[in-house]
Amino acid sequence: MSRKSVLFKVVVLGESGVGKTSLLVRYVENKFTISTKSTIGSDFLSKEIDVEGRPVSLQIWDTAGQERFQGLGTSFYRGADAVIFVFDVTRKKTFDELSAWKKAFLIQIGQENNKEFPMIILANKVDLDDRQVSKRDIAEWANQNGDVHFYETSAKENVNVGKAFDEIAKLALAKV
Ligand code: GDP
Ligand code: MG
Repeated sequence: MSRKSVLFKVVVLGESGVGKTSLLVRYVENKFTISTKSTIGSDFLSKEIDVEGRPVSLQIWDTAGQERFQGLGTSFYRGADAVIFVFDVTRKKTFDELSAWKKAFLIQIGQENNKEFPMIILANKVDLDDRQVSKRDIAEWANQNGDVHFYETSAKENVNVGKAFDEIAKLALAKV
């Protein structure tokens, strides 16, 4: 007997250029291009996966270059089941903005007091040498933010990308 799949809307947020689109394209289409095309040409990409024997359909929403929160229409985050915040380990500024992104997002969806909203942090571009944010910095931030899980990723070299998206699906499933 096949079970009906459960659909989750996952939104991907973070400063421009951190690799959000690249991570999404790596995950859904398993490819990477160095070109700086900043959008996927649609609101979201979908992927069917299996989480502990349960069919899950992930609908992953990407910003179309309008990364400031005010620029995202309400339809972007409305009904989100989970969120992925991305920063670039070679640009400390994008890490420093994490708290603001998290706060703005939770307020927008009316979950500012929810300490358990499904979320993960992706510390992207770990393939590069000029790193400005250490694992320890990230661990400290995560610790101060309810032990949110983080992954050091590379969309370019396909490091931890599948693992991270599997984790967000798992966290969303745990809330059903
Ligand atoms: P977005 O604005 O957050 O969607 O970022 P993009 O996905 O458009 O990526 C911005 C730039 O960073 C592009 O030139 C990508 O090729 C590059 N990029 C993205 N992820 C990685 C990565 O893991 N490693 C490296 N070296 N470059 C990356
Ligand atoms: Mg993009």
